[in-house]
This record gives sequence, C-alpha cells and structure tokens, in this order.
Amino acid sequence: MGASTRLLCAVIMGAPGSSKDTVLSCIIKHLELKHLSSGDLLRQNMLLGTESGVPAKTLIDQGKLIPDDVMTPRALHELKNLMEHSWLLDGFPRTLPQAEALNKAYQIDTMINLNVPFYVIKQRLTARWIYLASGRVYKIEFNPPKTVGIDDLTREPFVQREDDKPDTIDSNHFVW
Ligand code: AMP
Repeated sequence: MGASTRLLCAVIMGAPGSSKDTVLSCIIKHLELKHLSSGDLLRQNMLLGTESGVPAKTLIDQGKLIPDDVMTPRALHELKNLMEHSWLLDGFPRTLPQAEALNKAYQIDTMINLNVPFYVIKQRLTARWIYLASGRVYKIEFNPPKTVGIDDLTREPFVQREDDKPDTIDSNHFVW
C-alpha cells in the first residue's frame, strides 16, 4: 500500500462456527492488510511458555475468556507493531471493556459482524470433533469418522474442544 493511502483499521467478529476463517482468508487474499488474531497470539504465548501463556492455557482449555486486564494490553501492544500497516483484528474485542479500550486507542474504520443464527452455530459446533494429537477435525454431518468417536488413521478416541461443547457455547453466547 502506498504512503499516500490511508491505512485501514478493521475488526471482524463472529462466533466459532460462523465461518469467520473462510471470510477472513478471502478478505486477506484480496486486500493488503495484516491479520491479527487474539487466539493465535495466545497460542503463540502458550507454545513459548511465556508468563501469560501458561495461565492462558488453563483458561482456554476450560473454554473461559482471558481476563480483560491481561488481554487488552497484550492486544494493544501487538497493534502498536502494526502502525505502518492496515490491519484486520480477529477475536478482539470480545467484551465491552476490550471494545472501549480499542475504541479509545484507535479509530476503527470497518467492523464486520458475521450474523449467523445461534441455532445454526450450535448445530455446526456440536457436530465438530477433533483428534488432539494431529489436529484432524471431523464434522459429524460432512466428514464423519469411519467409526463413531475414533480417529480414522490412529484408531484412537477423539475429543470435543471444551469451547465446542453445548454448555460452553450457551454460556459464551453473548461474548463472542
Ligand atoms: P479463538 O482462536 O479466537 O477462538 O480464541 C481461542 C481462545 O482464546 C478463546 O476461547 C478464549 O479463551 C481466548 N481468547 C481469544 N481472544 C480473546 C479475547 N479477546 N478475550 C479473552 N479471551 C480471548
């Protein structure tokens, strides 16, 4: 993007199961902007075993949100490194205080909200199972495993992500 072009600050919001990744990759493919995902940021910290990464793993595994006083400075710090670029923020903000802090720090040009009916999301997520060791994902309707509950390749049992379980989806309903 040329120096005279105004940079774009955009946010995409959508619950898990709203096909956000598909829409995102389409936007990123066609527009020259940086993608910042708060979930990826946290997973990087978890992999590196940083001070914030270790407690984050416990919360994520339980399907809970990272507290605002940890998440907000982390995300805003990361955005500072993108000053020279247009960006698309994904997964942040997820709470009102996060949204207020972002709004105070940046003028957001575009907000994309994927408005998928809750019953469709619940149907999609509760039909999604994952084999943890490899990350292989099965969707009960579209690519079911050969044997219910068993990974096709290793024959080991697979699990449902904590945040894909119906109870977690219900309790997170208003915070995505
Ligand atoms: P995601 O990859 O966006 O689905 O994020 C994975 C997990 O990271 C979420 O289920 C939350 O536990 C945590 N997380 C990601 N973004 C945020 C955020 N903005 N605020 C709090 N927790 C978050």
